[in-house]
Amino acid sequence: MKEFEVLVTGRMMPLVMEQLESRFTLHKLQEAADRDAFLAEVGPRIKAVATGGHVRTDGALLSRLPNVGIVANFGVGYDSVDAGWAGQHGVVVTNTPDVLTEEVADTCLGLLLMTVRELSASERYLRAGRWEKDGPYPLTHNTLRGKTVGILALGRIGKAIATRCEAFGLTVVYHGRSEQKGVPYRYYPTLVGMAQASDILISVAPGGQDTFHIIDAEVLRALGPKGVLINIGRGTVVDEGALINALQNKVIAGAGLDVFEKEPHVPPELIAMDHVVLLPHVGSASHHTRNLMGQLVVDNIVSFLSGKGPITPVAETPWPPKR
Ligand code: NAP
Repeated sequence: MKEFEVLVTGRMMPLVMEQLESRFTLHKLQEAADRDAFLAEVGPRIKAVATGGHVRTDGALLSRLPNVGIVANFGVGYDSVDAGWAGQHGVVVTNTPDVLTEEVADTCLGLLLMTVRELSASERYLRAGRWEKDGPYPLTHNTLRGKTVGILALGRIGKAIATRCEAFGLTVVYHGRSEQKGVPYRYYPTLVGMAQASDILISVAPGGQDTFHIIDAEVLRALGPKGVLINIGRGTVVDEGALINALQNKVIAGAGLDVFEKEPHVPPELIAMDHVVLLPHVGSASHHTRNLMGQLVVDNIVSFLSGKGPITPVAETPWPPKR
């Protein structure tokens, strides 16, 4: 399939690069000294793009690739790809659903326990030699016992988180744009309403315009002074300024965050606070799961270019395309 020319927009894992390089004529946008001249030269020959959250794959970039048919995104969240533009211009976008669901749900439960039971703060206490010097770590004010968890976005990962929460003896409720049939959890039609009814708010919502800052000061006030926010979805869903304010003023009790508004920047105000657990976007970050995600990027491109269609097209670019 060397006759097909493929573009990668940034550094991707070796598994992806090696397979794409062995099958296709591969071009690397990140290595172009003059991106404009590079795109003018190779752009018209590109048939497929492999991309990820590291770069915006928007209309400005895609319009330089008039013969592209597929954009394969590394990651289930594809808010950095303009799928609306792609759909309007006959380009299919694929993501990497399912293969990461359980890993991200595991990470979420780890983050939840770390936050509620102060596990990273207590480990820091031990490592600083304070157990021997100052005595036992103080009892935690918070506990998971008898609590209600409100899940924002009960999709694939949200459901895997819910199953785990049930196993931990927690009551699960949820909010999304609409009530889902056959789901055993109580639905709240408003996010504020769910926050009011929850002790712990877990967000696993996708990024993008529709969810931008939907967890705002009002939602945090509704969660209340004993409430905990866990964000494993996208940083842009939470108004980070409002969250810092709420944490500094004890409007909520604590937060566990795997994602941030301007990654990899994490506001120093968050780093300064001990009742916040901060992870560097590691939800799916094991070799096992990242390899499966990488393979799905390659498989989508191979399948598409060999005429069999994409494997995991996103909702905005259904396959076969609607007429
Ligand atoms: P999914 O199955 O597509 O679920 C997304 C859910 O979001 C849907 O159930 C949808 O429910 C809900 N939703 C969409 N727009 C909404 C809105 N405006 N308000 C409220 N709910 C909304 O996706 P998934 O596989 O579970 O992944 C979810 C997200 O997790 C990804 O988009 C990604 O951003 C994030 N993620 C993070 C990591 C990490 O490393 N931290 C790893 C993987 C994924 P309704 O249709 O009922 O509204």
